[in-house]
Parts: sequence; C-alpha cells; structure tokens
Amino acid sequence: MTLTQSEIKQQLLVQYRYRIEMHAHTSPASPCSQILPEEMVQTYSRLGYDAVVITNHFSSDLFEGLSKKEAVARYLKDYEETCGAAENSGLQVLLGAEIRFEENRNDYLLYGADREILETVYDYLPAGLAVFRQEVELDRSVFLQAHPFRDGMELADLSLLDGIETLNLHPGHNSRIALAAKYAGENGRKITVAGSDFHHPNRGHEGAAAVRAKILPKDSFALAEILKTGDYLMEIGGTHIVLP
Ligand SMILES: [Zn+2]
Ligand SMILES: [Zn+2]
Repeated sequence: MTLTQSEIKQQLLVQYRYRIEMHAHTSPASPCSQILPEEMVQTYSRLGYDAVVITNHFSSDLFEGLSKKEAVARYLKDYEETCGAAENSGLQVLLGAEIRFEENRNDYLLYGADREILETVYDYLPAGLAVFRQEVELDRSVFLQAHPFRDGMELADLSLLDGIETLNLHPGHNSRIALAAKYAGENGRKITVAGSDFHHPNRGHEGAAAVRAKILPKDSFALAEILKTGDYLMEIGGTHIVLP
C-alpha cells in the first residue's frame, strides 16, 4: 500500500515527536532580547515545545570589566534562571551559546556547552575562529556558523565548522535561507539547523522554526549527539517539515 503525503507526514511527526527551539535569547544576558527567562519558559510551554536551547550572545563587548569567571557566571545566570523557571513545566532547557570573536561580526552557534567549555571560549575570543578551532577539541559539541548569509557576515571556512544554521527565521533580518540551504547542499551536507532566533515579544516569531528529534536530549551534549547522527527533522512555522 502506498502512503499518501499526509500519512507520511503524520508518521514523521509521530516518529520525530520532540520539538526543540535551537536559537533563543533571554534578557538580560542578551541585551538585544526583551524576553525574561520565565517568559521564555511560558512562551515555549504554551507552544507545546519539549525543549529550548538558550543561545545568548557570548562576545567580549558584553563582558567588559569582568574577569573570565565573572563573565561566564553572568552568562550562565540567565540559563540557570530559565532552568529554575522550567522546573515542573515539562520543558527541557539546554545550554548553548551564540559566539562572536573579536575578528569580525560573524556569529557561531555552539551546542554541547558547559561552564568549562565557555571559559575556554572566553579565552579565545580575541584570537578568532581559526585559532580556536585549531587548538580546542570540541568532541562532544557541535559548532556552526549562525545565519551565514545575513548582511555583515563573512562566510567562514567550512573546514573550521561542523556545519551552518541554514534556516534562521528571525523576522527582522534577511538571512537568505534558500542561499544558505543551497550552499550547505553544495558543500558536503554538513550539519544544518533551523532556529527562530527568538528575541522579542509581540512579533509572532516565537516557534517560527524547530528541530524535531526522536528522543528528548537530556542535556546539550545529547543534543549535539543527535545533530551529529543526522537523525532529525527541521520544521518551519509549525507546519512545514524539512529534511536536513
Ligand atoms: Zn541578539
Ligand atoms: Zn541569535
């Protein structure tokens, strides 16, 4: 018996039942965000998501005057508050980061993060992408260029990346997602992800994109593992299913 398209879609939605927001910013850790940690939890619980990765900005200009320990502690405070707000909510909160080195305005998404890794990243912010990737082993993490086709970005050397964020659905930027997807396809099918880049209330972009997985990752390293296997789907607008 041949399945209809809607039957296939239904099967995929059941198989890949866990929805994960891969790109979300809280305030005050990301000064550009107006979403407090508890609002992040309320928003994604209401949308029926299973997990949200907190990918706040991680760059030297946000850490002026702070020691490494202070900078990372301040970075982690929002994540910890989001975890606290999510207790008993059924929403899994995972730690990520959106990193910017001092060399340019490129952003990089890190999945598979903890305090130690963030402290190492902090040390390499002045050195730049190439030195960081050549000197630091990130066996249990995934390191992607965020929205590489957005204005102001420079395409990073793919040999320094595990992949790219192809489907960045921030409504205030043109991330040229079709160009990003095409580029990923033409360059060896590295890891690709979709994310809402959620920052702002009342703009309707919460839950604009998701990754769907068969299992709910227990922490951000487990999420990185899922990305490495390639066994996941992407979703746009809560309706369109995209195979990575
Ligand atoms: Zn931002
Ligand atoms: Zn972002």
